[in-house]
Amino acid sequence: MNQINASIITIGDELLIGQTIDTNSAFIAQELNKIGVWVMRRVAVADSHEAILNTLSDEAKQADIIIITGGLGPTADDITKPALCDYFNTELREDEAATENVKTIFQKSGRPLTERNLSQGLVPANCIVLPNARGTAPGMYFQNDGVSYFSLPGVPHEMRGLMHSGVVPKIKETFQLPAVVHRTLLTAGIGESFLADRIQDFENALPGPIKLAYLPAYGMVRLRLTGRSENKEAIEQEVAKNFEELKSLVNEWLVADEDISIQEAVVKLLKERKQTVATAESCTGGAIAQLITSIAGASAVYNGTVVSYSNEVKENILGVGKETLQQYGAVSEQTVTEMAGSVCRLMKTDYALATSGIMGPDGGSEEKPVGTVWIAVAHKNGKVKAQKMAFRFDRFRNIELTTHTAFNMLRRFIMEEEVN
Ligand code: AMP
Ligand code: MG
Repeated sequence: MNQINASIITIGDELLIGQTIDTNSAFIAQELNKIGVWVMRRVAVADSHEAILNTLSDEAKQADIIIITGGLGPTADDITKPALCDYFNTELREDEAATENVKTIFQKSGRPLTERNLSQGLVPANCIVLPNARGTAPGMYFQNDGVSYFSLPGVPHEMRGLMHSGVVPKIKETFQLPAVVHRTLLTAGIGESFLADRIQDFENALPGPIKLAYLPAYGMVRLRLTGRSENKEAIEQEVAKNFEELKSLVNEWLVADEDISIQEAVVKLLKERKQTVATAESCTGGAIAQLITSIAGASAVYNGTVVSYSNEVKENILGVGKETLQQYGAVSEQTVTEMAGSVCRLMKTDYALATSGIMGPDGGSEEKPVGTVWIAVAHKNGKVKAQKMAFRFDRFRNIELTTHTAFNMLRRFIMEEEVN
């Protein structure tokens, strides 16, 4: 089976100057990867007629599939359609269904329809229209000299809808694709290089069609096995077998044997045990609460947070002792221990997490440099575990490291509880 190669072209000056982050390519690449299409190149180009034409001819030399996003808006800087007409040597024609779609959207929103908006119903004469259920700019599909071209709007939400409803089905219908199997696990508390040493022999012995990827994030490393083959069942079995071996090698640091975040793993664990948690956040300022509450169904396990950023809130709302704060300071074992115990009682939960630290760039001292963070986990029975972390200088990195470390501490604490 031949490898099917794709190229992604994103169009827009805003992408080149970094004003808009190109999230479209990442999404498209993920979707193509899932169905066994190899993304060989991603290119960003300006809103320039010449640049678009040159890039299209360059990519068409090697790609079987070219996916373009951007430049389909009704404004003068959006020139993808005229560029495509030039490229395919054709003219714009009106697509009735696309025009109807524009009219319906404007009617529903009660906005006046202008000529400019109506021009969104015009498409190059040689294209097949892919209806856009989420916006006015239609998706377009072209076949030319054995290459399949897709042109999609830049608006991420519309592009995503069109990938699912139009592009992926067309690709599956047009090409014979291999089966691609992914298995992912999540580790925490071990660095990437230590992990690599640990699984070196395993990695070297992996069969050819299976690849291992390291995906590090703050305080965590995801490991992904990917197998590609024409034989779906065989590759599934082979990947599963290797995945079990990988799991046993990293068992000590294993957080999840599926592609989920550490907070999802914690929520899942609490759900299974029908237990609850609350948080008292100083240096993370609600970041832990935000991460938990973005998981659907978190209300079953999460009661709430107290963002106790100032000492007054620590004292008056959480009841941390004045003496504790005076004697040991806000960033101390004693303070986080009291914070965690107190919020656990206040919110009547089984567990509680508390954070307090110096996130930087200022505010450090010799005794407590920037990056000093105390995290505590408490159980309603009074058991508490506190740990000091020595992170470094970058504020946002420190917040993220603290949230991940806190989730991992809670997870380990819950599991120790299980053993005892
Ligand atoms: P356009 O289709 O060029 O009019 O783009 C419409 C909107 O989508 C603009 O707000 C762009 O900033 C945004 N956009 C365009 N391309 C991308 C991309 N590759 N990733 C994320 N957003 C994009
Ligand atoms: Mg644009």
